[in-house]
Amino acid sequence: MTANSPTTPMTAANGVPNPDLIDATHDPHRRSWVESANMADSDFPIQNLPLGRFRRRARGAGGVAEPWRAGVAIGNYVLDLRLAAAQCPWPEDVQPLLEPLAEGDLAAFMALGRPAWKRLRAALSEALTLDSDQGPFLELCLCPIGDAEMSLPCRIGDYTDFYAGIHHALAVGKLMRPDNPLLPNYKWVPIGYHGRASSIGLGGQVRRPQGQTRSSAVESGGPPHFGPSQRLDYELELGLWVGVGNELGTPVPMAKAEDHLFGIGLLNDWSARDIQGWEYQPLGPFLAKSFATSVSPWIVSFEALAPFRRPAVRAATEPQPLPYLDSPFNRAHGAVDIHLAVFLQTAAMRKARIPPVQLSHSNAIDAWWTPAQLLAHHTSNGCNLATGDLLGTGTLSGPGPGQGGSLLELSAGGKFAIELPGGETRTFLQDGDTVILRAFCETPGAVRIGFGEVVGTVVG
Ligand code: CA
Repeated sequence: MTANSPTTPMTAANGVPNPDLIDATHDPHRRSWVESANMADSDFPIQNLPLGRFRRRARGAGGVAEPWRAGVAIGNYVLDLRLAAAQCPWPEDVQPLLEPLAEGDLAAFMALGRPAWKRLRAALSEALTLDSDQGPFLELCLCPIGDAEMSLPCRIGDYTDFYAGIHHALAVGKLMRPDNPLLPNYKWVPIGYHGRASSIGLGGQVRRPQGQTRSSAVESGGPPHFGPSQRLDYELELGLWVGVGNELGTPVPMAKAEDHLFGIGLLNDWSARDIQGWEYQPLGPFLAKSFATSVSPWIVSFEALAPFRRPAVRAATEPQPLPYLDSPFNRAHGAVDIHLAVFLQTAAMRKARIPPVQLSHSNAIDAWWTPAQLLAHHTSNGCNLATGDLLGTGTLSGPGPGQGGSLLELSAGGKFAIELPGGETRTFLQDGDTVILRAFCETPGAVRIGFGEVVGTVVG
């Protein structure tokens, strides 16, 4: 397959990774002295090294919480970079990179840019490799992941949610316009809206929102309902974390777009469909979305994703990206092969000790737009992005049955109930339902890496 072959469908996923992106940190034979990192099913092998912010849980009543610090997930542990910076020898050029991380200021590190990100990754990989001289020092800097309380990676100044999942757009469009599901702009312009940054969290308890919804009285001029949403849903998305910002008035070209992207995490865009249906015209989603958005705590870097990059090319019969959304690199390697899945566990399942059931699976490679295209488009009017800004991809559904990234799709707008183990059914979420998003990458010749998970439980 050649990258610019006009007949290559976008979903053909077996590109050759760019050798320029691959280095010793991706070596599938590299193993860690942290033994749990060498297990085949670990999300956090030495080839991953995602960053997050954490502190040890305060022990017992009256325990004093530690300050947040940055950490690296490795196997079943978090490497505490505050301790690691202080208690372990590092190469001279690495020590300054560790300083903001030791202070728990992940954003300050994210702002340093790709050379710093690559240098620290190489140094951490060396230090965690089997037989590293730094091992005996760093062994004392590990916190069991179960003892770590996680925080948002950084302050999120601004949040935009896109609509890059074409199979989601098609499925949702079909519910409203069976004969013409995609609007004429979809394949030309990355659709998005400005979301609410203040209500982004790590999940946990998510309160069912109240809001206005359409009532039967509306048709005859009567009032809508106001009350708890009856059609609460999740959306399976990825969140792109902006590392380096851009000046107002200075668009980021495609060739430089990925230099601004630090990494990727999971994102659940909780959505109240009944509130959304009544409020969204003509200006788009508002209170149907702003009550909660949940992200996973670990940011997987674009460096870690290098072995899983894929071509982003469209069939000749499809609209091609305008020049400002096109680049040779994007055509050759712009897409990322990430397996995604949603799991659900109801309160009754929890009580009966029934494990979470998988509701759907999909792959980020099926998105219509790549991360670089989303960032380039966002800045194309001169809009300035800042370190710590978050870009949601939009719901990432697949083309087949069981691949819808929301209940809206899986239940066809509430028409079909989904059967669950234990005998329950769902069209939309009920109180006590726990939604779990997970993701991982795997490909021959590389070690599987995972994203961890984002877990949220609906409360009334
Ligand atoms: Ca969304």
